[in-house]
Amino acid sequence: MEIFRTCDEFRSWSRRCHHDGKTVGFVPTMGALHAGHASLIRAARASTGAVAASIFVNPTQFGPTEDFARYPRSFEADCALAEREGTDVIFAPSVEEMYPAGALTFVEVAEIGDRLDGKSRPGHFRGVATVVAKLFIASEADRAFFGQKDAAQVAILRRMTADLRLATEIVVCPIIRDPDGLALSSRNVYLSPAERTQALALSRAIHKAEELFAAGERRTSSLISAAREILAAEPLIRIDYVELIDWSTLLPVDTVQPGSLLAIAAWVGATRLIDNTVFA
Ligand code: AMP
Repeated sequence: MEIFRTCDEFRSWSRRCHHDGKTVGFVPTMGALHAGHASLIRAARASTGAVAASIFVNPTQFGPTEDFARYPRSFEADCALAEREGTDVIFAPSVEEMYPAGALTFVEVAEIGDRLDGKSRPGHFRGVATVVAKLFIASEADRAFFGQKDAAQVAILRRMTADLRLATEIVVCPIIRDPDGLALSSRNVYLSPAERTQALALSRAIHKAEELFAAGERRTSSLISAAREILAAEPLIRIDYVELIDWSTLLPVDTVQPGSLLAIAAWVGATRLIDNTVFA
């Protein structure tokens, strides 16, 4: 497995793959890789001829009081996992490589970029859209693989690729969970044992809404209240949002339609976690 540090090296590799008749799959990550990331690499491996993953903790998507400095970093272990799962190259640029001195160019997805996490984390999706646009341009990937776990991010990036007419197709993969239901996240390492237990309320809330939906409930208000009630029972949890929305616009819906999404963000102690489900 090769490790590239510059956009030029990454692009040259991708062009060589294309020259050799291989499609290029790309898995962008911030590292601290877990089984959720591994599932994306496997999905890429299964559908493309060459697979790249990036490891870059992107400063512009963190707010000034957020966890950029202490975000978990485990480059050696990440490379080992990526290689085991069949990654051909790792792209691990420096901050200066992605944001050259004097850089003034950002990508902003208006309106939907200010909803959900964009509302609670101002500027977050501007940082995400900017870095993913740069990564897509460098990778020249045919397909990029993202987790449904970050459902709002998927909506932003779909809009961005459509608006900028980027050639990379976005593929969305299912949420990978621990056996007890907690959605895997690099931030789960921040949780104390007590917080880890209470964090299970997020997946329980999601599951409750799915059960009500399966039993015929279609009113958004009922599904949201049921989810909120489960979260509110945990003293260490503070709800950021529980919203039932259209997955492409991120706007609230009154009754659940195919493609509606129940999305939760909550603080568990000092750690902000997200989870969601899409109603079929
Ligand atoms: P991150 O490193 O947290 O920026 O995530 C990189 C990619 O992995 C994103 O597309 C995430 O949605 C995806 N991802 C993170 N957690 C999970 C999970 N539990 N299951 C599936 N994909 C995930």
